[in-house]
Amino acid sequence: MLDTNEAIYRQYETLGISKEVLDFGTSVEKELKERFDKIDTNAEYNQLKVIAAMQKNKVSAECFQASSGYGYNDLGRDTLERVYADCFGAEDALVRPQITCGTHALALALMSNLRPGDELLSPVGKPYDTLEEVIGIRPSKGSLAEYGITYAQVDLLPDGEFDYDGIKKAINEKTKLVTIQRSKGYATRPTLSVKRIGELIAFVKSIKPDVICMVDNCYGEFVEDTEPIQVGADMMVGSLIKNPGGGLAPIGGYIVGKKECVENAAYRLTSPGLGKEVGASLGVIQSFYQGFFLAPTVVSGALKGAIFAAKIYEKLGFKVVPDGTESRHDIIQAVEFNNRDAMIAFCEGIQAAAPVDSYVTPEPWAMPGYDSDVIMAAGAFVQGSSIELSADGPVKPPYAVYFQGGLTWYHAKLGILMSLQKLYERNLVKLD
Ligand SMILES: *Cc1c(COP(=O)(O)O)cnc(C)c1O
Repeated sequence: MLDTNEAIYRQYETLGISKEVLDFGTSVEKELKERFDKIDTNAEYNQLKVIAAMQKNKVSAECFQASSGYGYNDLGRDTLERVYADCFGAEDALVRPQITCGTHALALALMSNLRPGDELLSPVGKPYDTLEEVIGIRPSKGSLAEYGITYAQVDLLPDGEFDYDGIKKAINEKTKLVTIQRSKGYATRPTLSVKRIGELIAFVKSIKPDVICMVDNCYGEFVEDTEPIQVGADMMVGSLIKNPGGGLAPIGGYIVGKKECVENAAYRLTSPGLGKEVGASLGVIQSFYQGFFLAPTVVSGALKGAIFAAKIYEKLGFKVVPDGTESRHDIIQAVEFNNRDAMIAFCEGIQAAAPVDSYVTPEPWAMPGYDSDVIMAAGAFVQGSSIELSADGPVKPPYAVYFQGGLTWYHAKLGILMSLQKLYERNLVKLD
């Protein structure tokens, strides 16, 4: 009979992982058993939540049919929006392939719920890079600023806490919408837990009850057992080529929340008067359902990968955010290399472990929406999908790589081992 450990070892060797790297990884994995068990329990809970929402809304084979043209009376589209709303605890939802990405979903939510003369407030510091142009922090055609919508920002305190005094001062009669980004994006601040988001929303509403609280939920879905809507958010926004698409959705974004907020977004996405009534689901709707069904499990694999990477690089002396023991509120893992070569080696390893495009070498490149060169490693089935194993980051100090995804834990593990292999081969790390 085949010795399983020996057979697996040989498979890793075939893929280019040396014994030193595999032994190091195996010893780290052994320490993580208890945490991995907790992640599995959370995935189990969220899986049941998704199934319950699908059953309640009587998802049927008819829902998977493609519509074209105007897409009037598209049962699959309308039912899926009910599934999202129920699963996330919201009144209504807009889940569409016509929403091209996360930035588009966020821009749509903002532009449809703000009017000239209103002010947008971020009480959690600078938003995600691509939103700078949406808001007009960096001047851009079609920004909120061009439409006379002002922007105010209150940074987190140095210890990562909310600046409650500053937030209170910043809220004024013009403040219409408060945007709260759950994930850290390309910053090294902590990601916000759903509980902390709830505390912040309660504080904001105690000062101005009718303000709209929106959460950028990118990378956060299914990481915890509750979502921001359940702690008072009026709107929650994300991308389907991240967590909730489960790796199967080939495009799309969602907005869930209060009926009025979602309605405003629908009138902006299509047209005043048409709203949610139009928008063909084309041939992608089954992948939206099936991806949402798989998402809790996929997210659990990505989370295990993130924690595995944190533990490994922490042991090797790098700064990792979050650290190897912290609780998780998104699937992103930042590793600060403080070294350009190490950052690039890491990304090369992720690329080399991919099922698709494993033979290409990622290089730093100028990207629309970003103000420095960016390196991106991804060998994805869906272009740019970051629920699939991927790593990226702006090539500037502190040379931090943001690592995320992995449709399965085993692939995430291989990717991280391969990244370590590249660093090891170039003498950028020592394994004792
Ligand atoms: C990914 C992301 C976005 C933007 O989504 P894209 O699909 O890349 O446009 C916005 N906010 C956060 C926090 C993100 O992680």
